[in-house]
Amino acid sequence: MDEIICCLNNASDILVTSHTAPDGDAVGSLLAMGLALAAMGKRVVLYNESPIPAVYRFLPGSERIVHEVDPSRFDTAVVLDCSDLARVGRIRDAVEKMPIVVNIDHHITNAEFGTCQLVETDACATTEIVYRLITAMKVPIDQDIATCIYTGILTDTGSFRFSNTNQAAFDISHRMIASGVNPFHVAQHVYGTYSLGRIKLLNLALDSIEISPNRKISLMSVTQNMLRETGTQLEDADGLINYAKRIQDVRVAVMIQEMPPENGVSQNHRRHYHVSLRSDGTIDVAAIATRFGGGGHANAAGFSVVSTLPELKANLLQLMSGVETPVGS
Ligand code: 5GP
Ligand code: MN
Repeated sequence: MDEIICCLNNASDILVTSHTAPDGDAVGSLLAMGLALAAMGKRVVLYNESPIPAVYRFLPGSERIVHEVDPSRFDTAVVLDCSDLARVGRIRDAVEKMPIVVNIDHHITNAEFGTCQLVETDACATTEIVYRLITAMKVPIDQDIATCIYTGILTDTGSFRFSNTNQAAFDISHRMIASGVNPFHVAQHVYGTYSLGRIKLLNLALDSIEISPNRKISLMSVTQNMLRETGTQLEDADGLINYAKRIQDVRVAVMIQEMPPENGVSQNHRRHYHVSLRSDGTIDVAAIATRFGGGGHANAAGFSVVSTLPELKANLLQLMSGVETPVGS
């Protein structure tokens, strides 16, 4: 922590970034860190390769996030919620060449990239770590920063329901509410402003659920056709996997999202897919995602792959064939 504070105190032009297809923690940590560094008088650029999902655009400062940047003019990069540098997207190589790269993350699979790391795998969210860092840097946590920190914790813990929900989640949320966060206002934006198309997409996604013969694995798919039919985007698939995970006896839920054709290969039915994995705690899905070049947490992980759908499903079922035997029996 002291080394990072020293790096940030000495920095003047800072690029703050987080992973592509950002979730609430990636947007929240990017904004909280960016607002805090700006309050310290630093020149900061907030960057994410992907558009900010509509449900997070209410977050203070989100209009400052840019999607194009000249990466040559920074002395420091702060990379948030990324287990490896490739997660930032196409600016990866440029970030790697920056004099100082600060890696702040909570993934078990963190590759320890960068010149200094603040990786705490017990943290429920990257915003938990950012909260401690901002406090240690003695930057006052105003309502705007507090809203970003709270939203990261709220969304990464699945509203305080997932296994990563720890005491800090409640302690910090309590403090953020004391700093002016309105939990109802945040919940309304994050969970109460879905488009009709998103609800219709939920219907199609639920209908796609398949269960393995032993009922331990559920598979859900979201295709480009479904998005077209409902007038939605991939960001609208966020969180759908939790329905597949809730099914009785299911240990691992798999969600296969077909990426737009421009991002991948479409010959011979091979497509670019993003695969999300969720576990009930008995299977380490970070290990499975790592086998496919991805990563994450023991109970929530993901990877990207180019494959045909039947081949991908067969590979996943094969890798998880151990799930056939209940752990401990
Ligand atoms: P999701 O399934 O929601 O995309 O991601 C679940 C978790 O796995 C998140 O913590 C996310 O950062 C991580 N994750 C998802 N996709 C990838 C990937 O392609 N590479 C790595 N390293 N982590 C991923
Ligand atoms: Mn996170």
